Amino acid sequence: MERKARILLITTGGTIVSRQGAEGLEPGGPQELEQTLQNFAAYYEVGLRDIFCLDSSNIRPEEWQAIARAVYEERGKWDGIVITHGTDTMAYSASALTFMLPGIDLPVVFTGSQLPMQHILSDGPDNLRTAFAMAASGVPGVFLAFDRKVMLGCRAVKVRASGFSAFESINAGYVAYVTDRGLTLNKDCLPVVSGPAALRTDISKNVFLLKLTPGLSPEIFDALAGMGYRGVVIEAFGLGGINVLNRGLQGIRRAVEMGISVVVTTQCLYDSANLRVYQVGSRLLDMGVIQGFDMTSEAAMTKLMWALGQKMTPEEIKKLFAKSIAGEITA
Ligand code: ASP
Repeated sequence: MERKARILLITTGGTIVSRQGAEGLEPGGPQELEQTLQNFAAYYEVGLRDIFCLDSSNIRPEEWQAIARAVYEERGKWDGIVITHGTDTMAYSASALTFMLPGIDLPVVFTGSQLPMQHILSDGPDNLRTAFAMAASGVPGVFLAFDRKVMLGCRAVKVRASGFSAFESINAGYVAYVTDRGLTLNKDCLPVVSGPAALRTDISKNVFLLKLTPGLSPEIFDALAGMGYRGVVIEAFGLGGINVLNRGLQGIRRAVEMGISVVVTTQCLYDSANLRVYQVGSRLLDMGVIQGFDMTSEAAMTKLMWALGQKMTPEEIKKLFAKSIAGEITA
């Protein structure tokens, strides 16, 4: 008889383990998952490691580091790791872990739920089933499983505040679906992971995400520099348009001259920014601004935070953003 896959479940809080408290839903603990895990014992050898219990709105880069360390410590002992996490910031955590764990050599799968386990109609058991199946697949990488779909962690975006299909894979195909054949891998969309596995958790908090709005004052960049920010991700218009009239570009030029890495993505959820198409974008490139292409804002933010944490120079950061590390950008 084939041996059961060994899967470690790391719990970090979120709705999936929440209970109704006096002020609303609050994270309970891993005991909320007990019944489901008992059912899973028929299929998997399951381990449990509870590292903290937070609403994911309270998760910071320090918590990303704690999760990455736990994964790295445990990785030799299991076939795969599932991480339960609140949905609100799960896409940030999944992206951050993608960069903190280069060359990861086993499946690491984030999941959670929109309705607590305690609720009879919770989506939690189903999401856990998909996540465990992915964790047992043998495909290395950092993933997010939700609503019977699996996507790269660095391509996931929470697109619904309460709907069960809460996450989408943006500008990249799904890695796997649950079909009538079980978990069906999409071979064309699997990540290319090249080893050796490493733990590189140093990360900078000095990155600001700026959504461009018509008429935004260029002084915002001076204010950010004055506050110690070393990186800015600009969600620009459409293909990467930025207001260039009325001193619009001056703030960005000053920021780049001060050694701040400025990455431009688009505020459109789908498709890619391409600064070469319009004059307003070309001028930015000539100034030293970095293209974010089709990365999600979550991936662009965490990649830049990580690059600065790794003490890369602006030149090195530019080179890093020109390539895909784990599928976060379409080559
Ligand atoms: N507020 C919750 C959290 O992110 C939402 C959820 O888990 O669905 O922790």
